[in-house]
Amino acid sequence: MEHLIDPFARPISYLRVSVTDRCDFRCTYCMAEHMQFLPKKDLLTLEELDRMCSTFIGLGVEKLRITGGEPLVRRDILTFFRAMSRHLESGALKELTLTTNGSQLARFAGDLAAAGVRRVNVSLDTLDADKFAAITRWGRLPQVLEGIRAATAVGLKVKINAVALKGFNEEELFRLVDWCGGEGHELTFIEVMPMGEMGEELRLDQYWPLKDLRARLAERFTLVDLAERSGGPARYVRLKETGQKIGFITPLTHNFCESCNRVRLTCTGELYMCLGQEDMADLRAPLRASPDDAVLEAAIRAAIARKPKGHDFDYSRQRVAGQMTRHMSHTGG
Ligand code: SAM
Ligand code: SF4
Repeated sequence: MEHLIDPFARPISYLRVSVTDRCDFRCTYCMAEHMQFLPKKDLLTLEELDRMCSTFIGLGVEKLRITGGEPLVRRDILTFFRAMSRHLESGALKELTLTTNGSQLARFAGDLAAAGVRRVNVSLDTLDADKFAAITRWGRLPQVLEGIRAATAVGLKVKINAVALKGFNEEELFRLVDWCGGEGHELTFIEVMPMGEMGEELRLDQYWPLKDLRARLAERFTLVDLAERSGGPARYVRLKETGQKIGFITPLTHNFCESCNRVRLTCTGELYMCLGQEDMADLRAPLRASPDDAVLEAAIRAAIARKPKGHDFDYSRQRVAGQMTRHMSHTGG
């Protein structure tokens, strides 16, 4: 089977799948407090998700990241993880992983590890319990810390993702770095992106460019640039003094699209070829139209043939350009 290659000769080997739009948190930069969620019938069933992901894997996808919403609040999600582990066993899939807010990790960590998950990304913007409750609205820090401990205890590598938020976790920069260093977690900072319908003013107020964060970091540490690339927007440094690895995801301060290897599937079967563009392909219709995977495969190939060169996010000149009206929880971040 010929593998997926886009019009700019980029092999598509990484699929991120949002398995639900629901979440037990309401992070202010991600969701409105009162969200209208999708009717259940619009969601791909777990069997359909399996068929969809297996088709992509057949077309050369080697890395699957499960996200949401909060993936671990989807009912019976372990069934899906266990089903995907057959592709790990066959060698077709190199990595099965997830991005989670950590709230349910204490319950699921052991089963995830047993299904072949080796690494998990946990989103954590602050180590201050009050601030954590404020930014997530419904989240509680001790529950997440317990989840992280449980994951570590069963041997999962935990990477912490923190959204850099001006005036919010600026003064916690070193605390986060020190905590991750002590616990042995990699840490990646993400620039806040213009997703959802949050007011333009608030979004710009929150924006803490990672070049500024990096400069702050360099006041205390020697930053050694690493050549390592994951095909995505992350750039890494090593802190010479501690040996820790720190990542920066900077969709806004520089463009990372030339090596983009990924596409995103929503829980309703829409394929977004770029996080920063509105264009998408409905894969649910071809999936449901025929039990023959050839129909779905043709739809996937046609979608990949439309993958754009890059996104248009831009905060320069003090305005938000390239604003996406959909929420991050829709495409899974
Ligand atoms: N619920 C899971 C979690 O929080 O990890 C997975 C889904 S969440 C949408 C994925 C990632 O997107 C999280 O790390 C979150 O911090 C990030 N995110 C959400 N909205 C964002 C925004 N507007 N800008 C930048 N990152 C955002
Ligand atoms: Fe939920 Fe993750 Fe969005 Fe927070 S960032 S509201 S945890 S989906």
